[in-house]
Amino acid sequence: MSCYECARSGRTTEAVAVCRVCGAAVCLEHVRTESVVMRGTAQPGEVIHDRPARRMTCPVCRAAEQA
Ligand SMILES: [Zn+2]
Ligand SMILES: [Zn+2]
Repeated sequence: MSCYECARSGRTTEAVAVCRVCGAAVCLEHVRTESVVMRGTAQPGEVIHDRPARRMTCPVCRAAEQA
C-alpha cells in the first residue's frame, strides 16, 4: 500500500501505518503518533497500571482533532 498523502502530491511512498480515524495509509514522514495513557481499572489489592498506548493518525485527522 502507498501513502495517501504522498500519492496526492504525485509521489509513491510505501506506507508504514494506517490512520485509525479515516483509514488512510501513511508513510513514516506523514504519520502522526502520540502516546495515550490507558488507565486500568483499579481492583482492591491490585496495582493500578498506567499503560501507554500508541495512536497513529494521518496529518489531516491530527489537524482536525487539534482544531
Ligand atoms: Zn507520505
Ligand atoms: Zn486520517
